[in-house]
Amino acid sequence: MLRPFKADLHIHTCLSPCTELDMSPKKILTSAKKKEIDILGICDHNSTENSLALMNAAKNMNIKIFPGMEVTSQEEVHVLALFDDIENTLKLQEFVYKNLPGENDEEAFGMQVIVNEKEEVLGFNNKLLIGATAIPLNEVIQLIHSLDGITIASHIDRESFSIIGQLGFIPENLELDALEISPNITFEEAKKRFEYNYPITCSSDAHYPDDIGKSYTTFLLKNGTVAEIKKALKNEEGRKLIH
Ligand SMILES: [Zn+2]
Ligand SMILES: [Zn+2]
Repeated sequence: MLRPFKADLHIHTCLSPCTELDMSPKKILTSAKKKEIDILGICDHNSTENSLALMNAAKNMNIKIFPGMEVTSQEEVHVLALFDDIENTLKLQEFVYKNLPGENDEEAFGMQVIVNEKEEVLGFNNKLLIGATAIPLNEVIQLIHSLDGITIASHIDRESFSIIGQLGFIPENLELDALEISPNITFEEAKKRFEYNYPITCSSDAHYPDDIGKSYTTFLLKNGTVAEIKKALKNEEGRKLIH
């Protein structure tokens, strides 16, 4: 039977240098529960090292965690990658790390904290996660698809680090699964402003616990999986976005 799932497919954790330490698994899940979110996408910049902690912490909470990443392409375009299992997410991370130059400067950008499900600090990532990879956008998308993930262009209404902001348009040959809008505009406004033939998702891009669920997408699905979301984005077998 199909039922609605409230999904916030784009949140950051304390691994992203631009977040506060507050974005720990427990605080993220407490806030998501309060907002009645069914599915959370973990999308730290160029890394998925905190996805497993969230997956483990959410086990008995009735919240589905999609491991993922917000990849920065060579063109400085942010793209979300979401998966059903951690193994494929780690394969993407391995490739991203090989193509991500530079080291983090904690003073300038902030700390990149790796935690476990008990909120224990396991270490600090020293890569320049806020930087751009050397991977062209079309290759990022192909790679994510080859690993059975979905690709969503991040916050297309924003000037910086969005596909439209960086390239000025959306190239026709890209096989994106959806376009995401930030909480700054409504779905109705986006439909008028962006006349592209792609489904539009809304998510919070939360960097603070209270922002989780500030914007979300409701999907009609059989269960909370990326495979089901893929069907909904293509309007297959009754699965769909209901916003
Ligand atoms: Zn972004
Ligand atoms: Zn983001």
